[in-house]
Amino acid sequence: MRAHASPSFPRLSDTRRRYIHRALLRWYAQHGRDLPWRNSDDPYFVLISEYMLQQTQVARVLKHFPLWIKRFPTTAALARASRRAVLLAWSGLGYNRRALSLHAAAKEIMERHNGRIPSDIEALKALPGFGPYTAHAVTCFGYRHRVPIVDVNIRRVLSRLSRNMRETDAMLPEAEVWTLAASLLPPRAFYNWNQGLMDLGATICTARQPDCEHCPLSTECPSAGRLQSAPARSASVIRETPRRIYRGRVIEHLRHRPRHCDRADRLCILLFSSSDAVEQSRVLDILATLQNDGMIRATAGRRPVEDIGTFTDSLDMLHICLTD
Ligand code: SF4
Repeated sequence: MRAHASPSFPRLSDTRRRYIHRALLRWYAQHGRDLPWRNSDDPYFVLISEYMLQQTQVARVLKHFPLWIKRFPTTAALARASRRAVLLAWSGLGYNRRALSLHAAAKEIMERHNGRIPSDIEALKALPGFGPYTAHAVTCFGYRHRVPIVDVNIRRVLSRLSRNMRETDAMLPEAEVWTLAASLLPPRAFYNWNQGLMDLGATICTARQPDCEHCPLSTECPSAGRLQSAPARSASVIRETPRRIYRGRVIEHLRHRPRHCDRADRLCILLFSSSDAVEQSRVLDILATLQNDGMIRATAGRRPVEDIGTFTDSLDMLHICLTD
């Protein structure tokens, strides 16, 4: 987080600041979302939920969170599990690399922090897969330390609340919003404040259709009722399927295969409906990235293939399995 020298809300008097705090906290008491990880002070629950929420919608996390906690109830249980078990349990959450980062973080917590999830932000940021948001969230929600939090929802709310934004997709630079968030943090009710800001961004001050009429902060917000939809992007651009989609399809397919294995030529057909030379080279490229990330292992006959990127034999010789 980069510090900014300039004050964040230059014309915000103490009275207005207190009003904003009271208005949001009152709204949160009535309308805050009932999320299972909020009913726990266990930093492990917070860590898991925040990890899952990094790129997955709340509704989906709500479904998977209890299953995960049942399967891996503690950091130690998660660290002990095989990578394959973790990847299998992550099914349905997307961005599978996060599952392996989470597993690596659990191992590191066991080995370097005696099994205790750190409360120190810098120690958390040193763990695999932790950015500033996750580190601050674990510190605030798991240990009730008074620190600001900026996720995409909070960034949007604070951008609109502090400046006269004209378009719905306009936001201040992230570093500036961290400073705003720190400057507006209430002295005591910071936990509910941070949760409330996130909920307001998720339900009222949304990306496309902010409901300023029902917003508890509308009288203090310079953007209230003024936001115009951003111009639609050109529909004529044909986007290529991102590589991560193909990677996700391979892992999902292997999750459901007997012994979690399949031949590379079948994977090629699965992804591209054909296996001519161009597609073969594409599938090898995709498989090589999965191998690099430790998600799969490859064999040809009984021989391990250490580097799929250099494989030149026929694809039907190449056997791909989910990592052990
Ligand atoms: S008044 Fe509108 S733009 Fe301002 S914080 Fe509330 S919902 Fe967002």
